[in-house]
Amino acid sequence: MKVESQYTSACPTGEISAYIDAELQPARELEIEAHFAVCELCAEELNLQKQFLCGLDSSMKHEGEIDLPADFARHIVANAESTVAGLRRPRERYNAIFICTAMLLFVLFALGADAGRVFSGVGIAFEQVGAVGGFFARVVYSIFLGFAIIIRSLAAQIQVGDGSLFVAATVVGSVLVMYVSRRVLRTDRA
Ligand SMILES: [Zn+2]
Repeated sequence: MKVESQYTSACPTGEISAYIDAELQPARELEIEAHFAVCELCAEELNLQKQFLCGLDSSMKHEGEIDLPADFARHIVANAESTVAGLRRPRERYNAIFICTAMLLFVLFALGADAGRVFSGVGIAFEQVGAVGGFFARVVYSIFLGFAIIIRSLAAQIQVGDGSLFVAATVVGSVLVMYVSRRVLRTDRA
């Protein structure tokens, strides 16, 4: 709050909520009331806190009026269970792994075509270590980027606790990255 610095040492800023809750000694209460009469800042703060409490109060009352279905919680639990169970079925899991692998292969082939074009075009330049290093870094980066996107989209569907799909996807991704790395290095040597 930008007006905070204008409070004086006489301002009972920390006691306003206690005052609203009637937790103060009667003598202190009178002192604070006298202060509210002369201090605009504290009077405003008192109003804000009262308004906030009123809003809180009415929203809580309102919430109590909402009629939840008797089996509301049961429905939620059943929904969550079926979502998790769906992924626990081996068939679903294999489908997910298949999609993941297919997407990774697609990335690989896309990069492969790219790599071939680059190699045939500027083959001589790749004798320079810097160029090879830069290209290699770009390939690895692209693979990881693609992999990260896949993992992220999968993660949205995988429930906490079902880590096996993550492990499988990570293994597939690592193998593909290794494959591409070796391929790039071999092409460089040839
Ligand atoms: Zn004050």
